[in-house]
Amino acid sequence: MPRIPLSGNLYVYKGKKFMKRLIAANWKMTGNRQKWQALAEGVHAGAKGCLNADFVLCPPFAGLGLVHAEGNVALGGQDVSPAEEGAYTGDVNAAMLTDFSCAYVIIGHSERRQYHAETNADVNAKLLQAQKHGLTPIMCIGESLEERDTNQTNVVLEKQLREGLAHVSIESAEDLVVAYEPVWAISAAGSGRKVTIDEVSSALEHIRSVVNTLLNQPVRLLYGGSVNPESAKELSSIDEMGGVLVGSASLDADKFIALAKVLTE
Ligand code: PGA
Repeated sequence: MPRIPLSGNLYVYKGKKFMKRLIAANWKMTGNRQKWQALAEGVHAGAKGCLNADFVLCPPFAGLGLVHAEGNVALGGQDVSPAEEGAYTGDVNAAMLTDFSCAYVIIGHSERRQYHAETNADVNAKLLQAQKHGLTPIMCIGESLEERDTNQTNVVLEKQLREGLAHVSIESAEDLVVAYEPVWAISAAGSGRKVTIDEVSSALEHIRSVVNTLLNQPVRLLYGGSVNPESAKELSSIDEMGGVLVGSASLDADKFIALAKVLTE
């Protein structure tokens, strides 16, 4: 069934409102000035031929001033402090992100949960702070391999959603993105296990039903974990999937644009 354009970038599909698919790049802690600029140039050029997609580039903080938002390509941070300002060495606040033209911010990525011991409560504090400053949070959730293999996926996702989205108002939820990233499917995790389309779609359906109970809003849901032009072909059939969060394949502008085309044309 074709998606029916409603207005601007909103679509109605099966009675629900959806935005265009969002194709988000997480460059993680890679690159340097030259690479960030070349990569952004490549994405800007390719995105002009891909007007059915919304893009967001999330370079490391050090690259934010070198990469600009343009047309359908927005900018995002990879993390944000829950604090307003002050003596928090090494942190970056929401006002700095908006000052550097960020519209989005990734929150609660599994690498932050793993290496910086971020809890659902931390994720929630960051998310509320991002919303306060008009940034659209991309909240990442996902189960570990052990949790999947012991049938805890739905319970884990529900807990991450309930605690991560605590105190989020229904109105502000219009501007909220949730990314389902099974930790073991992220390329850097190196589990060697490939996620199936059934696993992605059933997790997204579960997330949709929990989010509907909590917020009753058509929140955009992304999938992330080893997305590339090949896997995008299968993923594109998942109706609930409003876009993707891409790590390694976003480090090659041609690959990144190619997978965006597969998902949006
Ligand atoms: P990947 O990373 O595409 O390299 O698996 C995704 C992510 O960690 O957001």
